[in-house]
Amino acid sequence: MVEIKTDAALDAMREAGRVVAEALDTVRGAAAVGVRLRELDEAARTVLREAGADSPFLGYRPDFAPVPFPAVICASVNDAIVHGIPDGYRLRDGDLVSIDCGAVVDGWVGDAAVSFTVGTPRPEDQRLIEATERALAAAVEAAVVGARMGDIGHAIASVGRAAGYGIPADFGGHGIGRRMHEDPPVPNEGRPGRGFPLRHGLVLAIEPMFLAGGSDDYLTDHDGWTLRTTDGARAAHSEHTVAVTEDGPRVLTVR
Ligand code: MG
Ligand code: MG
Repeated sequence: MVEIKTDAALDAMREAGRVVAEALDTVRGAAAVGVRLRELDEAARTVLREAGADSPFLGYRPDFAPVPFPAVICASVNDAIVHGIPDGYRLRDGDLVSIDCGAVVDGWVGDAAVSFTVGTPRPEDQRLIEATERALAAAVEAAVVGARMGDIGHAIASVGRAAGYGIPADFGGHGIGRRMHEDPPVPNEGRPGRGFPLRHGLVLAIEPMFLAGGSDDYLTDHDGWTLRTTDGARAAHSEHTVAVTEDGPRVLTVR
């Protein structure tokens, strides 16, 4: 069931989104060669705690997961696409890191992700990251009253496919509100003019993820959480929580 949010709910979700944005900025600022992923999680925990926010990630256990998620961020490095567990791994020069973070404020959830490099970036990684950001921007622009879900997926896939990147079919965005994952699903590919009609008060987490090797294939790590490319190619992921409104798309997870 799709829940359409009131304007008051959109304002409340904006507060959750602000905390997510701050946590992601803090993590990005803390990420450097030699820093452990676990330290990045601790940095995000501090932001959430000081904001009085809870984490929708910590303890989350969907059907596929063998154990509850143990952290407040996902940290996915290089060939990890999404859902990486922040552990004792120390960041190395040139790593491509994708950080996903959520926050719950007054019962409303925000969800966003960013990819970046640490140390000396490889040009191909910068292109990959820039493509996910461009795809996200195009998808946000497509999230207008009267459009359909397929317009969002089409906007994302047009950028990714033109660049020759892979797009995993089984993972994408989602409705969001009092729960992190709500209906409707927001696929990263779609046919223009098809699918769920977008209307005022619909809130979506839009999250393109591109695989540099060009294959759409992925596998699940032995930890039961981390999704990786099958060819070892690197992946990038960008996400915002976005409200569809009569005044145009409202990105809730910016500072
Ligand atoms: Mg997310
Ligand atoms: Mg999400």
